[in-house]
Amino acid sequence: ARQFTRPLNDLSNQFNTLLSAVAGADRVFDILDEQEEASDEKQAIELSMVKGEVEFDEVSFSYDGDEDTVQHISFRASPGESVALVGPTGAGKSTIINLITRFYEPDKGRILIDGHESRSIKRESLRSHMAFVLQDSFLFEGTVRENIRYGRLDASDEEVEQAAIAANAYNFIKRMPDGFDTLLRQDGSGISQGQRQLLSISRAILADPSILILDEATSSIDTITELKIQEGLKRLMKGRTSFIIAHRLNTIQQSDQILVIESGRIIEKGSHDELLRKKGFYHGLYQNQFKRHAARAL
Ligand code: ADP
Repeated sequence: ARQFTRPLNDLSNQFNTLLSAVAGADRVFDILDEQEEASDEKQAIELSMVKGEVEFDEVSFSYDGDEDTVQHISFRASPGESVALVGPTGAGKSTIINLITRFYEPDKGRILIDGHESRSIKRESLRSHMAFVLQDSFLFEGTVRENIRYGRLDASDEEVEQAAIAANAYNFIKRMPDGFDTLLRQDGSGISQGQRQLLSISRAILADPSILILDEATSSIDTITELKIQEGLKRLMKGRTSFIIAHRLNTIQQSDQILVIESGRIIEKGSHDELLRKKGFYHGLYQNQFKRHAARAL
């Protein structure tokens, strides 16, 4: 999937400006790739197949080379597992994601993908096994079809439509003036945030990655679209290792593993039931926050 060029926090700001400024999206990525990232190690390998095992082994990282933003992060996600990252703003959730996607390299510790140290894998190869679904997924000026095909440029029209069907996007696309040929504006005007997400899910399904990065929407989306998104996401996530910056109780509850992050550390990890039994931080969060929101969110 060609959806990675910027760290998570920068994505929504930067993409839109850049994509509108430069005609060919491919060029933007080339430019950014050149500017932003160190070259691969000489001996870097390519992985043609990835099962999706992701392991952090005592990973620490600092943006400024001084104070650790995240420290001693250790967890292991088996292929196909869903992992929810939960915790207050500024805790380090996006930073952990940025380490998985290798916008940054750990200062200490190791990240292993299917047992291979991540930094020994060519970035492009690594990222070809990953896809993003963000709160505000970027669109570029082009047709709906082109925007979905961005997930895999050699996909046929048939494959694009199949992906839209699986993502629950097909019906709303068909209702648009020119269906899949409808021109989208880069600012996304003309379609709702929920519909943008459905397009983004279509794109990710088409990309067919082993590892998924999801940033769940915080803003409210109408109930019917929300249900479609949830169903589309469920199909997308099946059989893939997913990391979700999660806000909805339902999503968190259904995750195989919850990492509770605070001040750059994992303070608790386990399933929803395990964490409730612990009666620790997550239990408190659940009592105070999620339970109150749950009635509204569901
Ligand atoms: P979360 O995703 O949990 O809200 P982040 O990972 O975005 O948390 O942020 C963790 C900490 O790192 C915060 O203090 C944030 O200000 C800081 N931070 C995030 N991105 C950068 C960056 N690019 N440069 C410097 N500091 C950053």
